[in-house]
Amino acid sequence: MSAFHREKVLSVQHWTDTLFSFRATRNSGFRFQNGQFAMIGLEVDGRPLMRAYSMASANHEDELEFFSIKVADGPLTSRLQRIKEGDTILVGRKATGTLIADNLIPGKRLLLLSTGTGLAPFASLIKDPEVYEQFETIVLVHGCRQVSELAYGEELVAKLRDDELFGPLLTEKLVYYPTVTREPFRNRGRITDLITSKQLFDDIGQSPLDIETDRVMMCGSPAMLEELRQMFEARGFAEGNNSEPGHFVIEKAFVER
Ligand SMILES: Cc1cc2nc3c(=O)[nH]c(=O)nc-3n(C[C@H](O)[C@H](O)[C@H](O)COP(=O)(O)OP(=O)(O)OC[C@H]3O[C@@H](n4cnc5c(N)ncnc54)[C@H](O)[C@@H]3O)c2cc1C
Repeated sequence: MSAFHREKVLSVQHWTDTLFSFRATRNSGFRFQNGQFAMIGLEVDGRPLMRAYSMASANHEDELEFFSIKVADGPLTSRLQRIKEGDTILVGRKATGTLIADNLIPGKRLLLLSTGTGLAPFASLIKDPEVYEQFETIVLVHGCRQVSELAYGEELVAKLRDDELFGPLLTEKLVYYPTVTREPFRNRGRITDLITSKQLFDDIGQSPLDIETDRVMMCGSPAMLEELRQMFEARGFAEGNNSEPGHFVIEKAFVER
């Protein structure tokens, strides 16, 4: 049995010069928890070329969705960015990862902090009805350099607001807070600064960070994650993992090579 399922690309959408998303068929045997990642890739010269990718679709959907960077000289994404409808991609049979609600101690407010393609696991989680049952409020923060890089997230949230099932849940519980660092925008600044200055909480009209009620998931660049980890640990928050739940969980959106 091959380690990979062969899936057909159903659609591809290019958002910017550096970002695209695509949907593909999903093998009925491929199970995952919302927020997890799998190895996906292409067959190149008869061999699999695989990289870790978060599922941006939820596990109740029939199709798979991924939100991807385009690295000009990246072994995989220099090729993957050229896929089109009908092409074949490889999807590893096993999903894994730490960004799952079970890895968090029960709380009231869930902060989902992401930069760039780090939004992908949260795209899955905000389509999980259980998450809305577990938390009273969900704050989805997406930081990018430029306004154009927010487009995938903006459309995702807009579509969910129009959805029969999720619309009312989002209205009641989800706060979406996009922020930009290098261009004028209604929300500006880095996520760490927005939390330490309390600007984020002022902007959304909610109380500042509170270890009693706040639980946090974060996914972004290694540098951003390290800064956030230090900030949360300095406030007494403990990291959770698959063997012990904590106040926050972390997944790298990519590794520096
Ligand atoms: C747990 C995990 C989940 C991931 N999920 C996703 C995902 O959902 N979507 C996605 O696009 N990538 C994701 N990645 C990154 C992905 O595995 C690849 O690195 C990426 O697809 C580029 O592959 P490549 O072979 O073209 O270049 P690589 O040789 O893998 O990377 C080259 C360089 O490009 C930069 N880079 C790579 N990925 C990114 C990125 N996503 N954002 C910004 N810079 C990057 C880094 O500086 C890296 O050193 C994830 C990585 C991990 C560890």
